[in-house]
Amino acid sequence: MTELADFHIHPNYSVDATGTIRQYCDRALEIDIKHICFTTHYDLNPKRLDKDAFWRINGQKVPVTDELVSCYFEEIERVREYFSPFGLHIFRGLEFDYYDGVDREVERVRNLFPIDFVIGSVHCLDDIAISEKNEAPTYFNRKSVEQMADDYIALLIKASQVSGFDCLAHLDYYVRYGREYYGDAIDHIELERFDEAFAAFIKHNKGIEINSSPFRYGLRTFHPKPEIIERAIKAGVNIVSVGSDSHKPSQLGGGVSEAYKFLEGLGVTPSFLK
Ligand SMILES: [Zn+2]
Ligand SMILES: [Zn+2]
Repeated sequence: MTELADFHIHPNYSVDATGTIRQYCDRALEIDIKHICFTTHYDLNPKRLDKDAFWRINGQKVPVTDELVSCYFEEIERVREYFSPFGLHIFRGLEFDYYDGVDREVERVRNLFPIDFVIGSVHCLDDIAISEKNEAPTYFNRKSVEQMADDYIALLIKASQVSGFDCLAHLDYYVRYGREYYGDAIDHIELERFDEAFAAFIKHNKGIEINSSPFRYGLRTFHPKPEIIERAIKAGVNIVSVGSDSHKPSQLGGGVSEAYKFLEGLGVTPSFLK
């Protein structure tokens, strides 16, 4: 059987996460996940610096600086050496929110640090975080479900053009907080709408992540939902990785084996570790 990998993990450098890098590694050994990648949020959208551009170190919320990012990668390096004899493979990553101009920052950061894996995500529409419970209503209240889908897919297409992204995360993340505003209509966004995005992904050699975070809310689905994953695969889109999007160690690996089983049923293995 394929060894499981969880490639979407937020340790306590992210202000919305708890659990040290070491605690995540201990947990990985406990639940027999052999490959993990830390993907701390790195969000420097110039229009949202006051909201997003912070990490936590020693319990303090502080602005992200290169020095801090350097500490993060050094800590991963130390822990990586410690856990290597136990058969745990630790990868170094970041999750970037998409905004116009992010490609230059991705390139700058990739040149500065030893990074294995960069996730590109669309969290914000009109520079409002639809991934945040408190902010999402500001956006959803002013847009129809069709306008939202148009905005979202347009940004996915732009994100696919960022050469430093190794994969695009949680394609239908708008479902999480959007359901409350759009009701069941959110389940009926036409799948055809994604086809243009898939064509762009292929053109720009960009694959997607299967994000298993819904499992920790008791939902047996993924981001994106299975119908979108199947449509993407049929269109020729590469499946790069599986990730739990953990924000604490107890969430590590949640839904990951289910995602692997689902992909196995489709004859697909995530490509990043192939
Ligand atoms: Zn994300
Ligand atoms: Zn994440």
